[in-house]
Amino acid sequence: MTNNNDIAHNIRTILTRIENACQSAGRSPDTVKLLLATKTVSPERIKIALATGQMLIAENKVQEAKEKYPALLDTPHSSHFIGHLQTNKVKDLLKCDIRCIQSLDRPSLAEKLHHELSKAGKSIDVLIQVNTSGEDSKFGIAPSAALQLAQDVAAFDTLHIKGLMTIGILSDDENEVRACFHRLTELQAQIRALNLPNVSMDELSMGMSGDLEIAISEGATIIRVGTAIFGQRG
Ligand SMILES: *Cc1c(COP(=O)(O)O)cnc(C)c1O
Repeated sequence: MTNNNDIAHNIRTILTRIENACQSAGRSPDTVKLLLATKTVSPERIKIALATGQMLIAENKVQEAKEKYPALLDTPHSSHFIGHLQTNKVKDLLKCDIRCIQSLDRPSLAEKLHHELSKAGKSIDVLIQVNTSGEDSKFGIAPSAALQLAQDVAAFDTLHIKGLMTIGILSDDENEVRACFHRLTELQAQIRALNLPNVSMDELSMGMSGDLEIAISEGATIIRVGTAIFGQRG
């Protein structure tokens, strides 16, 4: 478990890794946002991370988002959701003031979100999660079905598609990891070319503690980091 004093240090280390990766890729560091993956992290420790000037946090379980949300109300931040979202949990999640749902991966979920948001007169940003590794264990729409899903979601005016999200394959072979991220970049270009209403394809959420350099070299705009900042999860 990481000491509380280490959190700020670890964030600085990650920011340096981002800067170095951007430099290697010929990109400006301000084109990459750091998102703190805060699963299993207490609100107290999340606040320490936010106090360093970070703004973006994300949970991957609705129950955990619900529990921590009240404790963070007074601390400026922006919450995303990055986990598998069951349709029957949508109502609960929307109560947590989530800015962006990064895990939209099926038409039935889009329908449910649209239904609840319409009733509330609200809208939300979403990313389409793509299963770029083809592993059964991973959620996300298959790459071959991603264009159709983007078209389906675009029909819902409460859902603003901002881009795509993926989890790279866990592998020591850098080429395999890179292939996942590259697939997402290709889909981004294909969906962009459709010129759909309510759809901008500017965000690519990809790369975590272990593979953020590869993701940045392939065009990531949001990297999601947990372990390298908060330590191993129990
Ligand atoms: C936990 C999590 C991360 C962060 O992974 P680390 O390896 O701890 O940096 C990123 N994305 C998703 C979807 C996660 O659930």
